[in-house]
Amino acid sequence: MILVMGGAGYIGSHTVKHLLDNGYEVVVADNLIYGHREAVDKRAQFVLADLADIESLEQLFQNHKIDAVVHFAAFAYVGESVEAPEKYYYNNVVGTLNLLKIMLAHGVKKIVFSSTCATYGEPHYTPIDEKHNQTPINPYGRSKLMIEQIFADYEKSYGLQYIALRYFNAAGCSADGSIGESHMPETHLIPLVLQAISGQHQNIKVFGSDYDTPDGTCIRDYIHVEDLALAHRLALEKLGQFSGCINLGTGVGTSVKEIIIAAEEVSHKKCPVEYVSRRAGDPARLFADNRKAKEILGWYPKYIDIKEIIRTAWNWELNRKY
Ligand code: UDP
Repeated sequence: MILVMGGAGYIGSHTVKHLLDNGYEVVVADNLIYGHREAVDKRAQFVLADLADIESLEQLFQNHKIDAVVHFAAFAYVGESVEAPEKYYYNNVVGTLNLLKIMLAHGVKKIVFSSTCATYGEPHYTPIDEKHNQTPINPYGRSKLMIEQIFADYEKSYGLQYIALRYFNAAGCSADGSIGESHMPETHLIPLVLQAISGQHQNIKVFGSDYDTPDGTCIRDYIHVEDLALAHRLALEKLGQFSGCINLGTGVGTSVKEIIIAAEEVSHKKCPVEYVSRRAGDPARLFADNRKAKEILGWYPKYIDIKEIIRTAWNWELNRKY
C-alpha cells in the first residue's frame, strides 16, 4: 500500500491516478486546504490528515499497512513564502519531520518527495544538472532544500531510502480530462494564458520583455504532469537501489511569448497581452539537464511538444470539473 500525502493536489492527484492505473493500492491523505476532494480517484482510500497533527499521522499508519510514501504535501506559493516564511517552514519542514518520525516509528523507510528547481536559485549555467550549487532565493525553495538535507542525514543515521524529484515547471492536465490543474489563487502562466483567452481575465500580464533571451521573455522548462506522475512510480520502484536527488524536466526551454503563441494555435483564439515589469526573483532561463532521470529511473518524458502539453490544459479549461 502506497501512502500519497497531499494526493488531492495537482501533481499528487495525477500521480495517484497513475499508480492506480498501474496496479498499486493507494491511500491518499490530504488536509484539503489547497487540495480538491474531487481530484482524488474513487479507487483510492481517502483520509483527512494534516502534517501538523502528529496524532492524525499516527492513526493513518496504524490503520493502513504502508510500504512507502509519496510526499507532495506542501505550501508552494513563492510570493507567499516571502511574506509568511513561518507558515512555509512549519508546514513544509516541520510537517515533513513529523511524517518521518511516524514513518520510522512504524518501520517505513521509503519515501519519494516533491522537490523543486527552486532549490537551485539563480542559475550559473543551463541546462541545470543536479551538481549545480543550491542557493535558493526564497523561503519556499529553502524549505525544500532543508528537507533534501534532512533526508540525506536520515539516510546515513536511520537507513531512510529516499528520492527527491526536483521538478521544473509542471504543466498540462490528464489526457482523459478527468483531473486537472486548479489552484486558488492561480499564479501559473499556462492556466492564466488560457483563462485570458477564454475571457475569464482581461489579459495575461507578461512579467518582463527585456530579459537577455531571444525574444526578451523568460524561458522555462514545462513538463507534463503525467510525465511527472510516471517518474514518481519509477522512483518508487528504484527505492532501495538509489537514494538522492533527480531533476525532472524535458530539457527544452520555452519562452513566455512562445507559450502564448502555442496557446493561441491550440485554442484558435487570440490572447490579450499586457507587458508589465519583471517579477522579483524570476531568473531569465531555467531548464533541466535530465540525463540523471533517464539513467537512473529509465524515465523519458512523453510530452516534448509544448502544444501537446497546452492542448491537455485547454481541454481541462473548457471542461473543468473543479
Ligand atoms: N509569468 C508571466 N505572467 C504571469 C505568470 C507567470 O509572465 O501571470 C511568467 C513568469 O515570469 C515565468 C513564467 O511565466 O517566467 C512561468 O511562471 P510560473 O509562475 O508559471 O512558474 P515559475 O517559473 O514561477 O515556477
